[in-house]
Amino acid sequence: MGDVILVTGGTGLVGKGIQYVIETEPEGSRFGKKPGEKWIFASSSEADLRDAAQTKKLFEKYKPTHVIHLAAIVGGLFANMRAKSTFLRDNLLINDNVLHTSYETNVKKVISCLSTCVYPDKVTYPLDETKIHLGPPHESNFGYAHAKRLVDVQNHAYKEQYGCNFTSAIPTNVFGPYDNYDLEDAHVIPALIHKCYLAKKNNRPFIVGGSGKPLRQFIYSRDLAKQFIWMLREYNDVEPVILSVGENEEVTIKEVADAIVKAVGFQGEYKFDPSRPDGQFRKPASNEKLLKLMGGFQFTPFEKALDESVKWFLDNYNTARVGKRAAS
Ligand code: NAP
Ligand code: GDP
Repeated sequence: MGDVILVTGGTGLVGKGIQYVIETEPEGSRFGKKPGEKWIFASSSEADLRDAAQTKKLFEKYKPTHVIHLAAIVGGLFANMRAKSTFLRDNLLINDNVLHTSYETNVKKVISCLSTCVYPDKVTYPLDETKIHLGPPHESNFGYAHAKRLVDVQNHAYKEQYGCNFTSAIPTNVFGPYDNYDLEDAHVIPALIHKCYLAKKNNRPFIVGGSGKPLRQFIYSRDLAKQFIWMLREYNDVEPVILSVGENEEVTIKEVADAIVKAVGFQGEYKFDPSRPDGQFRKPASNEKLLKLMGGFQFTPFEKALDESVKWFLDNYNTARVGKRAAS
């Protein structure tokens, strides 16, 4: 019997990126499907992973040998500030159910997804894989951050007590097709793509929240997908790996907004709303470990990836998540 890879949260931004790569790379190649392998991309409608019984049922149905665990309550800065308890509790429940059921059903490997949001607010830069627990996270997203940090603790505990092969990936900000484009709860790139589209359509100003000065690193979901597939195939250590472009690839929110204006073809008035929060000023992360272990990686240029994402949004406006709050 071939391997069965269950991707929890398989219908979201990152899950759809993995599905795209698995279905388009040549079979048997480094990032392609292996002969005999079966991939399952699960959504919350198949099993609400906050519920232990539904989680067990999902695992009984597919009998996964490997799990890429992406399912989570995910949102941008404004959603995280609004619903800290939901981000904490729902993600704690989801992670506990997925990891414990994986242990109970002898899953051979689990790769869970963290985020550079989980890092301490006050820490020396660049972030690397050793600094997750060195101080409290930024107050704007402490619910999400603590739930995700605990996954790293759980991975170590399951390994030490039971010998489980559990590990985690730490992506920086992700964007691409199938993102959540909610105007208020989405991350900055999908939220601004949607806002810029509406500004152009309705002949209104394009308003960008905050000062435009904070810096972020962005990774295209289809690049990230390849790195997850590499971890699945080739990485077997409990310590996490940061999945990111280089630390010298930080861009300001203004640069992001400028690129979106260009990609959308918006020519109207464009301004900042300083009454909205800036969040963490920067959180540059090093991809040194990733590149060393992978032997290099060809990232998609930011503007090309952004153009593809904008095109996907325009082509799929009627079915995209344009009004789905991340958390209540
Ligand atoms: P997303 O597009 O919002 O997708 C979330 C996925 O989780 C969806 O498939 C959703 O299923 C599923 N899900 C949510 N609640 C669930 C529940 N109770 N039970 C089962 N499934 C549930 O998010 P994403 O951006 O792909 O995020 C994937 C992973 O990457 C997450 O762990 C996130 O923390 C991490 N990450 C994301 C970013 C980013 O910038 N987006 C950055 C760093 C890390 P339905 O759609 O069917 O409800
Ligand atoms: P973060 O990296 O976790 O803070 O996540 P975001 O993707 O939400 O990025 C937040 C940064 O983008 C902050 O500096 C915000 O001020 C800025 N920003 C500007 N406009 C928006 C917007 O419409 N939505 C979001 N989420 N952020 C915005």
